[in-house]
Amino acid sequence: MTIIRVMAVTKTYGSRFGGPSVRALDRFSLEIESGDFVAVMGPSGSGKTTLLKLLSRIERPDSGAVFANGKDLSALSGNALSDFRRTEIGFVFQDSSLLDSMTLRENISLPLSLSRISAPEIEARVSEAARGLQIADILEKYPFEISGGQKQRAAAARAIAIHPTILLADEPTGALDSRSGRDLLERFLSLNRSNATAVLLVTHDPFVASWARRTIFLKDGRTFTEIRSGGDRRAFFDRILEVQAAMERLY
Ligand code: ADP
Ligand code: MG
Repeated sequence: MTIIRVMAVTKTYGSRFGGPSVRALDRFSLEIESGDFVAVMGPSGSGKTTLLKLLSRIERPDSGAVFANGKDLSALSGNALSDFRRTEIGFVFQDSSLLDSMTLRENISLPLSLSRISAPEIEARVSEAARGLQIADILEKYPFEISGGQKQRAAAARAIAIHPTILLADEPTGALDSRSGRDLLERFLSLNRSNATAVLLVTHDPFVASWARRTIFLKDGRTFTEIRSGGDRRAFFDRILEVQAAMERLY
């Protein structure tokens, strides 16, 4: 089943300092099936973060349309929009956006409480997500008391605990050492396999991308190319490196 449909989307940002405006996405299209695992790569400025912002309805396209679970995101507002963000989309962005005045447990529970999930179910989901990301013993701490890597794992736990239809992650392993980065990826994979959660993961790291079923390479707001894994992660990793090298040669 197709759960995300991005149709010929163009997104332009007005310039901040009076220069020309920037076309971040240029008639970009993408379809994601439930249970898919997609990596997005591409040089800085190629439109990766903009794509995630359109999918989470932080930004709206100038033209084209974005559908998630059959809903036209541009048409969502009010309660329908907050429900969509709280129950269908889990996102892990570069700055983890935890609330400073709340403990990690409260941060992870918040979207669940707002969705009126029962207290025992919240407890179970928080514990499960925290255990998987090795933050079970710091749940009573506040964000200012923990490291950048721990914050990033807490933000991931919050997204995972939602049991979203689609998980969006922008460089989620950036602030993590390789061991924690691997743990985080394994959590994403198990969510992807057991709940058929679609995962869309922006990364600069070919190793991280090699875990996906397919990798889309963006260039100037358009798809440069897309490659699919044949199932052998090592072989996929090598092909990702080849495409990266080809992109560098061509530009
Ligand atoms: P990436 O995540 O691939 O690095 P982005 O989607 O963040 O790329 O940005 C794509 C282009 O849009 C870049 O040229 C960037 O400078 C520009 N851009 C992104 N956000 C804004 C904004 N809020 N205002 C103006 N320009 C922006
Ligand atoms: Mg970015």
